[in-house]
Amino acid sequence: MLHANGPLLTVDVGERTATETSIEDLLADTVGGRATATALAHERIPFDADPFGPENRAYLSTGPLQQSRMSFTGRMNMTGLSPLTDGLVSTNAGGYLSRNFVDTAISVLELTGKSDELLAVHVTDSGVEFEPVPELAGATVPETSDYMNEHHGLGPEHCIAIGPAGENLVRFASVMTFDSRAFGRGGLGAVLGSKNVKCVTFEGDAKATVEVDIPNSPTTDVHREAAQSDDLMRRQGTTGSTEFINDNFSLPTRYFEDYEFENADRIGGDAVEEKKDKKGACSACAYACKLPTRDEDRGVETEGPEFETVYSFGSLQGVGDIVDVMQANDLCDTLGMDTISAGVTVAAYLAGEDEFGNAELAREITERIAHREGIGDLLAEGVARCHDDLGVDDYTVKGMEFAAHDGRVLHGQGLSYAVANRGADHMYAGMLGLEYSGELDPEGTLGKAETLVTLENHNVFRDTGIICAFGGDYVTEDRLEALFDADYATLLDIGARTVERERHFNNRRGLDRDDDRLPYEIPDFENALTEYYDARGWNHDGTVADRAVVAAGSAVPSAD
Ligand code: SF4
Repeated sequence: MLHANGPLLTVDVGERTATETSIEDLLADTVGGRATATALAHERIPFDADPFGPENRAYLSTGPLQQSRMSFTGRMNMTGLSPLTDGLVSTNAGGYLSRNFVDTAISVLELTGKSDELLAVHVTDSGVEFEPVPELAGATVPETSDYMNEHHGLGPEHCIAIGPAGENLVRFASVMTFDSRAFGRGGLGAVLGSKNVKCVTFEGDAKATVEVDIPNSPTTDVHREAAQSDDLMRRQGTTGSTEFINDNFSLPTRYFEDYEFENADRIGGDAVEEKKDKKGACSACAYACKLPTRDEDRGVETEGPEFETVYSFGSLQGVGDIVDVMQANDLCDTLGMDTISAGVTVAAYLAGEDEFGNAELAREITERIAHREGIGDLLAEGVARCHDDLGVDDYTVKGMEFAAHDGRVLHGQGLSYAVANRGADHMYAGMLGLEYSGELDPEGTLGKAETLVTLENHNVFRDTGIICAFGGDYVTEDRLEALFDADYATLLDIGARTVERERHFNNRRGLDRDDDRLPYEIPDFENALTEYYDARGWNHDGTVADRAVVAAGSAVPSAD
């Protein structure tokens, strides 16, 4: 089976040491990306770790396809113990980092320990250097990139960096690459902040030493089809579906008071396309769905917003002006925060203050969160920890603020939010696609568990390969089998074992059925939960038997 090559590089930023460990057996078993990083995290992060403690570990990992020239592969995976959900999370970003990462000849970077001063870590194919950067304290993401460019000649495509939000341990701080692409969900930016790591750069010329043998036929076909596609998404990115989603009563509005937004057309795909400045892409991707936008009048320039930001800083806050959403998007990227969690948290604040539609206040609060100033200090904890003080309902699952695609209407999606190991997020299992299209009746939850399990397993493998979530129509099951030289069931099994490892880790931190909860009611929820556990072969209390995971962990090197 095709898999990533190259050792695990462990960088202890407290001890300032770098150690390489061969993980050939583990890669043969788990392929790369999310599956490999999750197996390492499960074995090497103590179950009782403090997310902000030196014992937490953050993993940046590649799959084998990052060595190809195929569209939809300009992606990287990041995994760690989340300060937001208190469980394992994996998160995925595009941009141009993946090829520079592969050039350092490693397959996984593991960051551990805690530095006593703010550091830049430089990873190259010939070693690791540690550079104290006290002058970057409080710097924004672009300021950090500019510094690396000026002092090391390395552009943002070589870097991951955190902004003030990460340094200030905002629980939903992101890790940014290429200035505008986010490892967004779950607060791994705050994990880097807790380790005093401002930035990591990647540079080398060693691709050949870790080369993988990728079959030519599917990669060429996928690339050609991506280049020739006339999908709306190529012009409007994910925002192209805003009005369709609104028409399906699935665009949460004014902090979940409503299901549809009367000004959706002013923040949707056409509004974004009008502000589109040029084409944007990730490395090697001919699909090029990214959206660099600009508004001359207000001097706003950003990349995006994506649909989820149109929801979180638009409809959910009652804001109906695309330039306001663009500005908020830029603020979050610059300060280093997940736009979904930040937007939902600001919406919760606006709900408590009866200030829906006040975009200027929303921007002020966003800045305060990143700097933990005044009320921002409370909001930086996220909705689950601050909703009582704000006097609003807790719209989170496992501490994770909701993505759009309202589970009160799309009941299978609601079930998926409840059981997802990283909480109320749509990327672990997008039941929404089947429910929007009518392939699956959006009404009801019973009988959907098997589909949900397959989707979750598929998406793990997607994040393992690593393939962009938007490449599903092109990188089909047949092509996956040809690319990875394995049957589809084997690939799904890698997904199943990864979901199980995440679940087992979370169980050992005390999460179980009581945490697979929604803040609203959907039909037959308890029975559907039980169906899901049965489909996974788990206990009815939402836990996984130790023995299953211990057996699966035998190829993982211990941290001792
Ligand atoms: S489809 Fe879009 S997000 Fe995905 S890799 Fe290509 S340009 Fe990046």
